[in-house]
Amino acid sequence: MQRSIAQKTKFLVLVLICVVIAITGFNFLILKQDQILRKYFIDAPKANIKEFNASLANSLSKYFERENRTATLEEASEYIRRYGRTSLFEQVFIFKAPDGTLQQASKLGITPARADVLASDHVYPATIAGGALEGYLIILIDEMDSEELKEGLVKYRVISYSIRAAFLLLILMLLVIIFYQDYSAKMRLARDMAEIKASNDGLTGLHTHEHFMKALEIEVKKFKIYQTPIALLMLDIDHFKDFNDRYGHLAGDKVLQEVANLVKLNTRATDILARYGGEEFSVIMPYVVRDEDITKEERLRGFTEEIKEIAERIRTGVEGRAIDFQSNALKVTISIGVSFYYFASDKVSSSELIQRADSALYKAKELGRNRVCIDHELSSSG
Ligand code: GH3
Ligand code: MG
Ligand code: MG
Repeated sequence: MQRSIAQKTKFLVLVLICVVIAITGFNFLILKQDQILRKYFIDAPKANIKEFNASLANSLSKYFERENRTATLEEASEYIRRYGRTSLFEQVFIFKAPDGTLQQASKLGITPARADVLASDHVYPATIAGGALEGYLIILIDEMDSEELKEGLVKYRVISYSIRAAFLLLILMLLVIIFYQDYSAKMRLARDMAEIKASNDGLTGLHTHEHFMKALEIEVKKFKIYQTPIALLMLDIDHFKDFNDRYGHLAGDKVLQEVANLVKLNTRATDILARYGGEEFSVIMPYVVRDEDITKEERLRGFTEEIKEIAERIRTGVEGRAIDFQSNALKVTISIGVSFYYFASDKVSSSELIQRADSALYKAKELGRNRVCIDHELSSSG
């Protein structure tokens, strides 16, 4: 659960980083696009036109001043053509018709209004038809003929393709993140399942011996730090060899499963249950002290009683259980050895705790089996 929250946070942070990178990237590209537009399509033509306009107007007026008359449209066109940059420009003559409307005398098919706007920087007064019509000679820029504009257009295309590519890349990145997230979640689940499988016994579902040893080590360390008592139960099925010989190993296996279930039923969720060996089980009970008002001795007594009660509950549970196997009601008993740490001492160690539980179990067997023996009581009474 914790892990999945951390995983989700990581995922969101990743997506957020992608979005920030994308926004920054897009912003940069769009700014660049804007700059190119401005430089090649707005600023440069304006400057060109102004410069060209000034020199053209100057030489036009000088030419016709010399001739002391107003140029006709043909004359002006001819002059502009000769001026040498006609490929860059087209011209159109706009005049006011007798009905007051603006009209044009050219083959360009550009409406006077548009020509007016486009050419507002270079408009020259001119007459046509020997002075019958007075109007304006308008010079239009021919965009596609300009090398600089072509270069701008190429740059503009590159940048707009870059924007599209960046957008696709962002989508691709998000898809990869989503798929990776999904894939790694599946891998994690598989790994967790493998871990659970590795630390659990296949037959009984209890923890393995290896897991038990690690867990006990940790609990003993906790006891050393917090001084909260810890108990260890060692359970062994009585005369199990004979049972196997009599009913077969499959019946024996069923018994092992049933005993494991009874141990589970009679312990707390916080207890650590393991299959210690063949038909031996172990239970670690980390004990939390509840009542602080009573004396240490009273608490020790209470603790011993509680542990004994749990062990007895397991023992009688197994004793009273008729295990159904191939229409037979089979019965087994178990012996339990208990050891615990209550007060800290120098000897405290997981191996010593196991040894003491083993001795208590041995004692229980010796005393006739199907019983619980507590190591503490054995040593204090003997
Ligand atoms: P005691 O009362 O002294 O414990 O007698 P016992 O016969 O149970 O002696 P011990 O504990 O040494 O017996 C171990 C037997 O447990 C030997 C083997 O047949 C049986 N056993 C161990 N593992 C398994 C298992 O996985 N399945 C089955 N069916 N039997 C097992
Ligand atoms: Mg045994
Ligand atoms: Mg046995």
